[in-house]
Amino acid sequence: MTNQSFQSWLSGLDRLSAAQWSQLQQAVQERSEGAAAVAAIELQIDTERRCPHCQAGGAVRRGTTRGLRRYSCKRCGKTFNALSGTALSGLHHKERWLALGRSLVERESVLRSAQRCSWVDGPAASAAATGVAPSPITGCVKARA
Ligand SMILES: [Zn+2]
Repeated sequence: MTNQSFQSWLSGLDRLSAAQWSQLQQAVQERSEGAAAVAAIELQIDTERRCPHCQAGGAVRRGTTRGLRRYSCKRCGKTFNALSGTALSGLHHKERWLALGRSLVERESVLRSAQRCSWVDGPAASAAATGVAPSPITGCVKARA
């Protein structure tokens, strides 16, 4: 975004409705939490950049993949990131892990946790926010195979 476009966008903030303002605040918060989560994950790469496959140090940066820095081992040629070789490797939604961790520490319900992590919206999120259970599904319901 150019600076001029940004200034134009910024001047439009005064015209946002309360609901739009709330959406914007949530989006900014999620992005900053996501960046903090990825930064915390990236701290797992030690200064020696040790390869989890062959334990050799001195790996070189080789771009990014799935939001994490990627390294290439000079000895074995394999690539890795901060999560390679861990139980967390391959898990999605890294940007929400800190929020999920906070939710677990605060012993929130599954629904409240999903809402905090923005994994749920619609009637279930509304129910969590208001405490009013969504109306049950009625009529003919067909399950997907
Ligand atoms: Zn290696």
